[in-house]
Amino acid sequence: MGFDNFTMGEFMGRLKKRLANEQGTFIVTANPEIVMYAREHPDYQQLVDEADFVTADGIGVVKGAQMLGTPLKERVTGYDLMENLLQLAADDGYRVFFIGAKPGIAEKAAAKAQARFTGLQIVGTHDGYFPLGDAGVTRALVAAKPDIVFAAMGYPRQEQFISGMRRHLPDALFMGVGGSFDVLSGTVKRAPQVFQKAHLEWFYRLLKEPTRAKRMLVLPRYLNAVRREAKKR
Ligand code: UDP
Repeated sequence: MGFDNFTMGEFMGRLKKRLANEQGTFIVTANPEIVMYAREHPDYQQLVDEADFVTADGIGVVKGAQMLGTPLKERVTGYDLMENLLQLAADDGYRVFFIGAKPGIAEKAAAKAQARFTGLQIVGTHDGYFPLGDAGVTRALVAAKPDIVFAAMGYPRQEQFISGMRRHLPDALFMGVGGSFDVLSGTVKRAPQVFQKAHLEWFYRLLKEPTRAKRMLVLPRYLNAVRREAKKR
C-alpha cells in the first residue's frame, strides 16, 4: 500500500486548497489491519487505490515503512486529521455531514463538535446502520450539500460507502474515520496522553476492550509481511 509522506501541516495545506477549489477528495487513514485486509481482499485494495490520499494511521505503519527503507515523516492519525478539518470547516465556513456509528451517536458527536469549534455548521447526521446504496441515505446527503463528509463505520464499510457516494457529491471531501464518533461523542474514551505519546494507544484499547485481542492478532502477521517484503527488496 502506498502512503502519502506528508506531515500533518503539509496535509492540511493541501486539503485546504482542495476544499477551496471544490476538488473532490477521498482520504483513507490506514492502520496495519487495513493494510492486511487490503492485501487479502483485492476488491478492497481497489477502493483504497481510488483514494486521493492514504495516511499512516497507527505506529505500526510508520514502523513498517521504516523497515522497508521508505520512512514516513510522521504518523497522521485519523482522529487528529478529523479534528483539524473540523477547525478548518469552522474557520472557512465549510458544511459538514456526520454519518456512522450507532443511532444517536453522530448527533451527540455533532453537538460536541459544535460546542468546541465555534461557528461549525453540521448540516446533517445519520447512523451507520443502513444497507449500502440506500436511496434515502443518498437523498439526505445530496440534499444537505455538504463540503465535508466524515464516515465512521469502520473498514471496509466506510470506504465502500464513500466509493459509492462520491459520484453523487463530486466536489466533497470524504474521509473514513472508524470509531471516531464514539470518541468525539464521549461514548468511548480516547487513550490518555501518556499512552498516545508512547504510541501505546492500541494497548490502552486492548485493556479497555479485551474483545479486540483477536483483531490485534493481525499485528504479528503484518510485521511478518513487512519483513518478507523488506527481504524481497
Ligand atoms: N459501525 C457502523 N456501521 C456498521 C458497523 C459499524 O456505523 O455497520 C460503526 C460502529 O458503531 C463504530 C465504528 O463503526 O462506531 C467502528 O469502530 P471501530 O472502533 O471498530 O473502528 P476502528 O477505528 O478500529 O477502525
